[in-house]
Amino acid sequence: MRGTEVMRVVAPGLASLVLTALVVVGGASDRLAAADGDTGADPAESTAGQARSLPAAQPAVPQPFYRARVDPVGPEVAARMTASWRPGCPVPLEDLRYLTVEHLDGAGGIVVGELVVHADVADGLVGVFAALFEARYPIRSMRLVDDFGADDNASMAADNTSAFNCRAITGGTAWSEHAYGRAIDVNPVENPYVLGRHVAPPEGRAFASRPDVPAVIHADDEVVRAFAAAGWRWGGDWSGPIDYQHFSVSGR
Ligand SMILES: [Zn+2]
Repeated sequence: MRGTEVMRVVAPGLASLVLTALVVVGGASDRLAAADGDTGADPAESTAGQARSLPAAQPAVPQPFYRARVDPVGPEVAARMTASWRPGCPVPLEDLRYLTVEHLDGAGGIVVGELVVHADVADGLVGVFAALFEARYPIRSMRLVDDFGADDNASMAADNTSAFNCRAITGGTAWSEHAYGRAIDVNPVENPYVLGRHVAPPEGRAFASRPDVPAVIHADDEVVRAFAAAGWRWGGDWSGPIDYQHFSVSGR
């Protein structure tokens, strides 16, 4: 199985250093390359007579760093997804990816979260969560929705951030963007779905007024900007319902 691992050193005031490792498990070779693709073998550079210095693989001073992995949905993950995916869903498992990303938990810790998303948005989301890590944006929980029986209400009530779920839109029969793995709900208690007086999850009622406290997403803040940079749009910009937890590629 082939996966991609990204490590980003986050050093305030300095440019981030990004390393991408293509890991071939059971293959003949592992390769480590700078993410900018510079192999140091550019002949145009060598004629200048100056060797370009590559960033060191290890920082001299340990810093908080961000790691993420993108993997295919392997047998273990597929076995966990029996509630969120079934034959007849609009996207086959082969077109989904299993992401593990480091994030701040809001209690001072750095933990590894997991997400299932569409393959064509996986790398972009790795960058989004790098930006959220750098911004020290806390995420309370990031587990597969299958850990909640693929019950969106249970996942929201647990303040769980999740993406893929082969389900219909809220209050309708069409596939949700979540069924394509191209939507994500972030900290749903602090960022509830609001339709008139209806707030989901009910645990998020105190946050419907959008207080300025951690994890609450506001227009044009670092969370909205991080997603926008990857081409994702925010449900907080909708006029009704307003879905403060929801980001999607399509804007739906
Ligand atoms: Zn959503």
